[in-house]
Amino acid sequence: MSYFDFLSQVHNECADGAGQPSVYLTFDDGPHPSCTPEVLDVLAAHRVPATFFVIGAYAADQPELIQRMIAEGHEVANHTMTHPNLSACEPGQVQREIFEANRVIKVACPRASVRYMRAPYGVWTEEVIASSASAGLAAVHWSVDPQDWFCPGVDAIVDAVLASVRPGAIVLLHDGCPPSEMKPSRDASLRSQTIKALSRIIPALHDRGLEMRSLSQQH
Ligand SMILES: [Zn+2]
Repeated sequence: MSYFDFLSQVHNECADGAGQPSVYLTFDDGPHPSCTPEVLDVLAAHRVPATFFVIGAYAADQPELIQRMIAEGHEVANHTMTHPNLSACEPGQVQREIFEANRVIKVACPRASVRYMRAPYGVWTEEVIASSASAGLAAVHWSVDPQDWFCPGVDAIVDAVLASVRPGAIVLLHDGCPPSEMKPSRDASLRSQTIKALSRIIPALHDRGLEMRSLSQQH
């Protein structure tokens, strides 16, 4: 199989069917004890469901946040156990990273159905896609990346999303930070730009007639 053959199995946009035009907000690298509740509060205030690609090690530490995501109608998805670059993993480690994260999410919230996987750093390999499939997970990338992870400013995040979003778009945002990049000194304000941007992005998308859905609500 060529690189492009297997990459074609990774979804970076959703087919937009006959219903109302929709976009899909996704959040990576949580759950985070202070940022994720704030993201959930904004989503709840606007009654918007989203998809959270969680890191298994964090899910194990914050099971109540996984339970809250499910209780509030969000989709919880797999972003591996420890967020490694999967292309640099030892044989067998890719599968362990994916299966262990699935297991931890189910322990945190037994009624969660895990359906999707996103590779850390968006690094997809044939083994990652095969291991995801054997765990029953569809591989999901993104089509809109405002690079909120490096805190470019609230306006920059809002403008980047609104400039490139279209029906079927999968928007990449972050409610946490990988273990390798965690700096306790900026912990509290870690995703403050993303959270402020989100409060502006949601009404702007509604104004354009775009509905926001979780990935499992594709039509
Ligand atoms: Zn990530």
